[in-house]
Amino acid sequence: MNKPLNYDANNIFAKIIKGEIPNHTVYEDDKTLAFMDIMPMAEGHVLVIPKCEAVELSDMPADYLKAIFETAQKIMGAQRKVFERDGIVQMQLNSEQAGQTVFHYHVHLIPTSIHTLREHATLNQQADHGKLAELAQRLAESI
Ligand code: AMP
Repeated sequence: MNKPLNYDANNIFAKIIKGEIPNHTVYEDDKTLAFMDIMPMAEGHVLVIPKCEAVELSDMPADYLKAIFETAQKIMGAQRKVFERDGIVQMQLNSEQAGQTVFHYHVHLIPTSIHTLREHATLNQQADHGKLAELAQRLAESI
């Protein structure tokens, strides 16, 4: 798979993968990283990203898609245990027109209902980092 023409290697998730920006990691393997969303649309909102250069779904190599959804299943299982609920919203935005704000492919896993989702990527709704760290640890321990 060729590098997407519009991939910015300095986007915020590329920096997270390179360790240049901190994150609250829930799970990591050779192809994927899962970490807490710092502007959660519900408590326990996790993002799963591939360790390859892809802006959106159409850029994703099949082996990374497989790895992303294997990791997503692990995260969803952990969220179900920690939050004692079945309902998990799975979301993924393609292009700015759809509301995408970070241009590195990512799947959102949000333990809530479509009817109670909070606003998306709202800068003044950053969660407490102590709480995010605690949730990341609880989720990691439940995988
Ligand atoms: P999207 O609009 O689908 O591209 O979603 C990007 C998501 O990344 C939003 O839910 C943001 O809250 C989240 N986000 C932005 N910066 C960070 C960061 N440094 N660490 C964790 N999540 C972030």
